[in-house]
Amino acid sequence: MTDLERLRHSASHVLATAILKIWPEAQFAAGPPVENGFYYDVDLPHRISPEDFERIEAEMKKEIKANHPFEKMEVSRDEALALGKKGRLAALGDRKEPSKFKIDIIERIPPGEKISLYRNGDFIDLCAGPHVMRTGNIGAFKITSVASAYYKGDEKNPQLQRVYGTAFKTKKELDEYFAMLEEAKKRDHRKLGRELEIFVFDDDVGPGLPMFLPRGAAIVEELEKLAKETEFAAGYQRVRSPHIAREALYKKSGHLPYYAESMFPPMELRVEGELQQHIDASARSIETADKFLRESLDIVFPALKKGELSNEEFIGALKNLPDEQRRNIELAAFNRLYAVARWAELPPPDRYYLKAMNCPHHHKLFAAVPRSYRDLPLRLAEYGTCYRYEKSGELFGLMRVRSLQMNDAHLYMTPEQFESEFNAVNEMYLNYFKLFGIEKYLMRFSTHDPTKLGQKFVDEPELWKQTEEMTRNVLKNSGINYVEVPNEAAFYGPKIDVQAWSVIGREFSIATNQVDFAQPRSFDLRYKDKDNKEKVPICIHRAPLGTHERFIGFLIEHYAGNFPLWLSPDQVRILTIGDDAKLVDYSMSILNELRAHQVRAEIDKSTDQINGKIQRAEQLKVHTMFVIGKRDMEANAVSVRVHRKGNLGAKPRAEAIAGILQSIKERRPQ
Ligand SMILES: [Zn+2]
Ligand SMILES: [Zn+2]
Repeated sequence: MTDLERLRHSASHVLATAILKIWPEAQFAAGPPVENGFYYDVDLPHRISPEDFERIEAEMKKEIKANHPFEKMEVSRDEALALGKKGRLAALGDRKEPSKFKIDIIERIPPGEKISLYRNGDFIDLCAGPHVMRTGNIGAFKITSVASAYYKGDEKNPQLQRVYGTAFKTKKELDEYFAMLEEAKKRDHRKLGRELEIFVFDDDVGPGLPMFLPRGAAIVEELEKLAKETEFAAGYQRVRSPHIAREALYKKSGHLPYYAESMFPPMELRVEGELQQHIDASARSIETADKFLRESLDIVFPALKKGELSNEEFIGALKNLPDEQRRNIELAAFNRLYAVARWAELPPPDRYYLKAMNCPHHHKLFAAVPRSYRDLPLRLAEYGTCYRYEKSGELFGLMRVRSLQMNDAHLYMTPEQFESEFNAVNEMYLNYFKLFGIEKYLMRFSTHDPTKLGQKFVDEPELWKQTEEMTRNVLKNSGINYVEVPNEAAFYGPKIDVQAWSVIGREFSIATNQVDFAQPRSFDLRYKDKDNKEKVPICIHRAPLGTHERFIGFLIEHYAGNFPLWLSPDQVRILTIGDDAKLVDYSMSILNELRAHQVRAEIDKSTDQINGKIQRAEQLKVHTMFVIGKRDMEANAVSVRVHRKGNLGAKPRAEAIAGILQSIKERRPQ
């Protein structure tokens, strides 16, 4: 338990104390810390509502002010049960009703395990701890919500009220947390995505399948351009692969059957010629027989449908049918059997899957050409579109989707090249973080557990040791912020999950970086080494910009929709003051010059007043506005206005345009 979790869990004891002061009959179940706070499950006839929060908080404050110590008492099982029967657990004193949930919890504690109680003031609770020293150590807290929850999450159990709260060491941290939540609501990428016309979902297209509008596609294109330039400079080569592949590919990669649930169901191809006629004939026979059997059995034996007929009863009833009716049923059953048997002799159908990852295709591209050590490292990159089946309840804006375009690449190398390749990949991550102003990030380095080789982890003890050692060294030497998590590696090698925090402190998992020594083996990938021997390369999977979907969702919230010029969907909008023909000509020539340099520039030709034009551009968060009046034209100048910065004054035309081009070229952060 972290210090903050300990503090929050202690606050849940104080919450229970306060509730009992108001409703002494309350029965408590579990009160753990959770992400961002804590809760306590309570059984109470009174329905707790937000109107009660203030009263509960006032009682909590008293308990904190009293600064009671959290005292630990170890008791025997019998002592604990005796207290429970007196209603003394999770209570301020003895009560008529026993502490039913606590008794249930005690009965589930394995014999021999110690049972501890904690006391603060009059409140005694069954709890393993730990807690802060005294109630006064709980700095600042707030009750946030109440919801219903079943005891132990099982809907067969009684329904309880779950009271949520949060707590921090200081009032300042608490205030900052709520300010962040408020700000996050305003920045919600689903809300801004709609307002700024970045992406949409459509029921006819399908849930989880986002479409990018032109303004969103502009961001997509900029990110791809960035990735392509960066990867080109780092010696990557681009490849292209189709969106579907045969079942055989995913069997080889091991994704089938293990990953099947996360893939879209397969498409079965019609085979050509006579064979398909046989398949169709079998299918028709089965269908006809099924229909006949269903109808006649429903009429003759209504009880069969409800499953109320035993085999013996069924055979008996069949015997009693008139001959012709019985013969027809038997004939249909035989026909069906025959068709199924014939079907089984046909070759298996040709199944295709939508690709859920690009690796298998890339492995095939590695294998397509004989490779020698001189070709390594080989870095194959593709912004590949993948499809994953996420349950509809888990879809969430751009963060959890079913179609995703991934900043993917697979690097193939010799073991000697691993360290420098891995280092270069990490450098790339860090450079991107710098570019996007991501100051807080964490790399979770997941390693294997040697006792689970051959079960959870591929049985390659030496390779595990070697790659983990090298990965650890790279992380240490480059001063990257990382934590090591044992026993969480992927089946085929150590992995690094990258979490990043937006400027307002919202956490996102952006990308994964994986070392793989198993897939190259199952795909039989080889290169000829210096000693003329065939060897299996190591592969690194990496995707520093994650998927367009998730990364753009992150960027919308990170920038609150105020994209830097290079990423901005509308880079420059020209606003004329009035519609004088000469003024429009002058503005058009500026527009043409900008567009000749690939700047996303538009002109607002409406007859609105200049203030109206500015307001509309500000609403869409257009990055730069060139406001052009008669005086600007006469001076061969433009008045520059930047979103959120206001009017920056007049500049010579050439200087203003050069400034725009330079800022885009350097991908300046503003
Ligand atoms: Zn506790
Ligand atoms: Zn991969």
